[in-house]
Amino acid sequence: MRFCSLGSGSSGNATLLEVTSGVATSRLLIDCGLPFKHLDERLAKRGLSFQDIDAVFITHEHSDHVGCARQLAVQEQLPIWMSRGTYSAIGSPDLAGYQRFAYDDEPITVRDLYLHPFTVTHDAKEPLQLVVTDGNKRFGLLTDLGHVTPHVTQRMQGLHAMVLEFNHDEALLQASKYPPFLKQRIAGGYGHLSNAQAANLLQTLLHQDLEHVVAAHLSEQNNHPDLVREVLGSIANGFSCQTHIADAESGFDWLQI
Ligand SMILES: [Zn+2]
Ligand SMILES: [Zn+2]
Repeated sequence: MRFCSLGSGSSGNATLLEVTSGVATSRLLIDCGLPFKHLDERLAKRGLSFQDIDAVFITHEHSDHVGCARQLAVQEQLPIWMSRGTYSAIGSPDLAGYQRFAYDDEPITVRDLYLHPFTVTHDAKEPLQLVVTDGNKRFGLLTDLGHVTPHVTQRMQGLHAMVLEFNHDEALLQASKYPPFLKQRIAGGYGHLSNAQAANLLQTLLHQDLEHVVAAHLSEQNNHPDLVREVLGSIANGFSCQTHIADAESGFDWLQI
């Protein structure tokens, strides 16, 4: 199993996950929060096109995640999985029969990939994040949540790789020029994880079989990769996992588990 990102953060999120068994490759795109043309170009840079994707999973309706979902359904005939809440929040568009509904704790099969969506606390209608397994390795994606619940901690156990939100540094956010309502939204229980919150969660999820941790969805205004690197380095010390930081524009290259 391997995964990469085509962009991470408020300017657009898209994560690719694939597993090859024998001659068959199953490929899932998680979020498509980029203009169609940009997503197409970034896929092409990895030697892929929309035809190489089996399905799309949308975590929630914010534009940095839902992006060009309608075009992927209507033009590219890709099945688009999302919660009923997300579907209604984007105006229940006609997806030419390609919409599929995802629910907390109900597994979804996309060829050789098994998706396990779970509910998170975020200011969206019915946001879901995701653990995906091929029956052997477990990959988890967790961004866009205001606080960590026991449900989230339980679902993220036993992963071999994870992409985890390190959105903001609390002090940088409070010192920023953002208006008070926006600071409150981001730091609130339905906003985004701070570096400290993500670090606390990561500490509880670390184990010796965890191979990769990618810090993602970093705020360009209220965070800095050096701060995240420092936090990651201190937590992962003593464990064999590799740590990475997703770039807003270029995401990150393929990582194998
Ligand atoms: Zn987002
Ligand atoms: Zn969001």
